[in-house]
Amino acid sequence: MKFQEKRLLSQIILFFSTNLGALGFKTGFCYPFFYCQACPAATSACPLRALEQSVYKQSFTWRFFVYPLLILGFLGVTTGRAVCGWACPIGFIQRCTGRVARKLKRFPLVKKIGGLKIEPYLRYMKYGILIGFVFLTSFLIGFIFTDICPVGFLTGTIPILILNPGKYVPNYFFPVALVIFSLFLILIFTVERGWCRYFCPVGALLAPFNKISFLHIAVEQKEECTHCNACIDVCPMGIDIYNMHRDPECILCGKCVNVCPKNNIIFKRS
Ligand code: SF4
Ligand code: SF4
Ligand code: SF4
Repeated sequence: MKFQEKRLLSQIILFFSTNLGALGFKTGFCYPFFYCQACPAATSACPLRALEQSVYKQSFTWRFFVYPLLILGFLGVTTGRAVCGWACPIGFIQRCTGRVARKLKRFPLVKKIGGLKIEPYLRYMKYGILIGFVFLTSFLIGFIFTDICPVGFLTGTIPILILNPGKYVPNYFFPVALVIFSLFLILIFTVERGWCRYFCPVGALLAPFNKISFLHIAVEQKEECTHCNACIDVCPMGIDIYNMHRDPECILCGKCVNVCPKNNIIFKRS
């Protein structure tokens, strides 16, 4: 089995195991990735909701504060952001919509927007969302992020509306959540991994671990590089791979490793 087929298999298995709650298999634990706990089919719970709840109640217990951070920390230290490339169902959905985004990249307007100098800075927004929405507003006001979260809308609200419409009571934030969800859909069909690049707070929690993780992607023997750009062309996160060093955006998908004609790019353990 080819490497990328193994990754696809991993994503499909994780996607279905995430939804085992539909068969009554609910664990109550946290996912090490992004998926809504409100989904009637969800096996487990979103790490962000647990963290929000903990900060809001200022009750830093094992289950709601320490455990979500420990599980993300452990995976981060060992494999960096590999969870995003191999496990997260929202990453898997974007792997599918990314095919459309890649085709759209050929249009001059999309190309122009993608080439804007501001693009690398937009990636910092996810850290702002993590600190501002998940921690600060939870501390000062109450839950906001999980009320307007488009992933919650996709994997929580929509399944409830389909499976248990009578039980759904829209809250104050519903119209805002609907608008944000529509923008989320436009984003993931126009920018490959657009949600992961710019907005995902779970990605923001995992990204810094790439700097210290045991497993990471490295470019070896740079002098042999022919600058064919094959690696940059396939990278779903739009990374300048030749010049990268433990890039926080790398999701360890291995596409660049597979495509380099010089076998210059490797999974490195250190
Ligand atoms: S960045 Fe967020 S949505 Fe994207 S793959 Fe990682 S956890 Fe999932
Ligand atoms: S640098 Fe390579 S492994 Fe990392 S996201 Fe890009 S293609 Fe995937
Ligand atoms: S694919 Fe390999 S040879 Fe081509 S630019 Fe990337 S590192 Fe260099």
